[in-house]
Amino acid sequence: MNNLLDTYAPLNIKFTHGEGCWLWDKDGNRYLDAISGLGVNILGYGNSEFTQTIQKQAEKLIHLSNLYEIDTQQVLAQELCNISKMDKAFFCVSGAEAIECAIKLARLYGQEKQIKNPAIIVCNNAYHGRTLATITASGQRSVQAGFEPLVPGFVRAPFNDISALQHIAETRQDIVGVMIEPIQGSGGIHAASLDYLKQLRNLCDRQDWLYIADEIQCGAGRTGEFLYSQHANVHPDIVALAKGLGNGIPIGVCLTRNKTNNLFTKGKHGSTFGGSPLSMTAGISVLKIMEQLKLIQNAKTQGQYLIKILNEQFQNNANVTSIRGKGLMIGIELKNLPLGLPKKAVDLGILINITAKNVIRLLPPLIINNQECNILAEKLDTLISDI
Ligand code: PLP
Repeated sequence: MNNLLDTYAPLNIKFTHGEGCWLWDKDGNRYLDAISGLGVNILGYGNSEFTQTIQKQAEKLIHLSNLYEIDTQQVLAQELCNISKMDKAFFCVSGAEAIECAIKLARLYGQEKQIKNPAIIVCNNAYHGRTLATITASGQRSVQAGFEPLVPGFVRAPFNDISALQHIAETRQDIVGVMIEPIQGSGGIHAASLDYLKQLRNLCDRQDWLYIADEIQCGAGRTGEFLYSQHANVHPDIVALAKGLGNGIPIGVCLTRNKTNNLFTKGKHGSTFGGSPLSMTAGISVLKIMEQLKLIQNAKTQGQYLIKILNEQFQNNANVTSIRGKGLMIGIELKNLPLGLPKKAVDLGILINITAKNVIRLLPPLIINNQECNILAEKLDTLISDI
């Protein structure tokens, strides 16, 4: 009997170890990983500095709880705040938990403004996680269906459409903020325009709404800036990050700024595992290695290169309807995408993911180099030309 609840459909392949952007299976075959544990393994596999750092920390202390001071929380919080231009951090262990934190902050903000039932604007096609509040905030029916009743306090709007938000501003008094996934990842790699993000910042300022950025997938350097919001030069009031921050050691974080800094008071929020010595050491090490290896710059240059060669190679392929993304967050949309494509990719020696039914999603480690981009493009050519 299979003792696992039936939530996933894993491919029948077992990996034994990895190095750089590559994974090996038990028969010694190697695979170029273009999905990196769903955008998590940003340093790739087997980075010796990272491994030794967490190994040493594991020997000293793994977990303590927030009953006691943990110095490295302040170190990582300060580094994240400096790089994101935010003020304060709450550490947790997953993306959904970081979004829950953001939602709770927004509700407290509303209560402070005497709004009895505060509502947050969320976008169609967004993905914010799998808890009850985050599936409600998500704009994909597939993650909500069957889990009704959903959580009240969310208002839906079309993505990338400022006039729809302006209309809501004119008609409702209960809005406290807008939560935006600046590049919709699970929704099929759709980036909000930089102009829209700027207009959204202005609208939030005018309305005294919070600008909440879910940068769980597009943040932590993946698009060529630490935050995607930085491409638009906009400054959110709350930022949620997770995935790549711990390179596989679970870390989520909710960053606040200015008017969102003092909404929580002691006892208002918490997380048993949040801010553990092991995860803080992992986060500090990730940021250090990112800086040493100039990974944000690498995401930018390799991303531009990969998109360029993909565009060249698929320009005459009528099945490829769009190649889009920013940095190393790339989507290839196909008119016809047959079932079983990820398995065919495995057989060719690459790991990819399909999202939004017909989009090949690429989220490779941020260490990927030119030669590996060439191999990936070549294998994708074989994969897609064979359809
Ligand atoms: N928000 C975004 C944009 C995501 O991509 C994800 C996960 O894919 C989440 C939230 C949820 O993160 P987690 O799965 O760590 O709870």
